[in-house]
Amino acid sequence: MPSITSEKITSWLERFAELVAQNKDYLTKLDSAIGDADHGANMDRGFQAVLAKKNDLAGKDIATVLKTTAMTLLSTVGGASGPLYATFFLQAAQAAGPKTEISPEEFGTLLEKALAGVIQRGKAALGDKTMVDALQPATESYQAALKAGKPFPEALEIAAHSAEAGMNGTVPLLAKKGRASYLGERSIGHQDPGATSVNFLFQAARETLA
Ligand code: ADP
Ligand code: MG
Repeated sequence: MPSITSEKITSWLERFAELVAQNKDYLTKLDSAIGDADHGANMDRGFQAVLAKKNDLAGKDIATVLKTTAMTLLSTVGGASGPLYATFFLQAAQAAGPKTEISPEEFGTLLEKALAGVIQRGKAALGDKTMVDALQPATESYQAALKAGKPFPEALEIAAHSAEAGMNGTVPLLAKKGRASYLGERSIGHQDPGATSVNFLFQAARETLA
């Protein structure tokens, strides 16, 4: 049974921070089309602050790593995405508990709780053109893959593919939540920035957790 250690969770966050930094301008460009051009800057500021806490995180349990991430995001990222990503990591922390390793099944529960937190906080449903459109299919396909007996790396692979498909699927949607919803019909034809950062989160998971 493969296990996901605190160190792997930390590597996941570091890889995500790296992808966000590399794609900061891309995320901002997407947000300039249907928002206020700050999603890249917001996410990069938040995750650089998380990276700065790397030394404090060494040797800590998974809940502490994830909760520290949530609190750091809350204090450094404004806008919609800060509190939503903070909720994601806070709920994930609660689901993981003070353990130093969790199973792939427990990681699935963690994703489910984190997704539920984001939905509860942001009140977005699937198809509203938000980060939920990448997060929900990725979580559901991960769970389905494990249930079907697929090995952990394959489940992560499947989740990453679903996140990407969900992200691409936001293009034709009309935004119903967040700033993009102010644009109404003019939000159609643009990829959602938050779904795009969530896609990076799952690409990072695929690369680091297996
Ligand atoms: P802001 O919109 O405040 O400028 P960001 O630009 O950092 O914040 O983040 C925008 C992203 O946040 C959107 O692309 C969308 O994915 C996500 N988002 C906005 N509102 C919601 C919501 N209510 N529920 C889920 N996600 C949301
Ligand atoms: Mg914005």
